[in-house]
Amino acid sequence: MTTTIKLPELPYALNALEPYISEETMNYHYGKHHQAYVNNLNNLIPDSEFENMSLEEIIMNSDGGIFNNAAQVYNHSFYFLALTPNSGTTPSTSLEEAIIRDFESVDNMKKELNTAAMGQFGSGWAWLVVDKDDKLSIVKRSNAETPITDDLKPILCIDVWEHAYYIDYRNLRAEYLEKLWNIVNWDEVSSRWDNK
Ligand code: MN
Repeated sequence: MTTTIKLPELPYALNALEPYISEETMNYHYGKHHQAYVNNLNNLIPDSEFENMSLEEIIMNSDGGIFNNAAQVYNHSFYFLALTPNSGTTPSTSLEEAIIRDFESVDNMKKELNTAAMGQFGSGWAWLVVDKDDKLSIVKRSNAETPITDDLKPILCIDVWEHAYYIDYRNLRAEYLEKLWNIVNWDEVSSRWDNK
């Protein structure tokens, strides 16, 4: 059966992340950009060598347009599903210990991730990843590129394409990055750490 990629349902309403991310941004970012990557990919899959592959398998084995759309579907699902309107979530004990081991403090890790996100010239993503030795680190990637192709397991990502923040923050990427920490879903990030 031909693979069909679905836009993931979000566990929150499109206006629930306000005032940090507006409903208008969500309507465009999730409703139009993310949806368009899903639609483009579903148009490219039939009758291709990727017909029976999972999304991850397509990312690992493709390049060009199909890679860009597949990776953007993956990256956006990963991003949106780690956001929450509940401000009370915190890293699990196990994740917090690992962050302190590798970054000295949670605040330092946030600072390093924001620095990477600020330093990504043009469109791209900043990532908190785990390597084969269980060590956490920060990486940045351009355009649709995703660290899963480098054998790294991501647990958190930040979209720094302008479409992620321009409606709400205009050119102020740093302010978007600072505010985003209010809506990070640490329960989800911790569960990714536990299940890596
Ligand atoms: Mn985006």
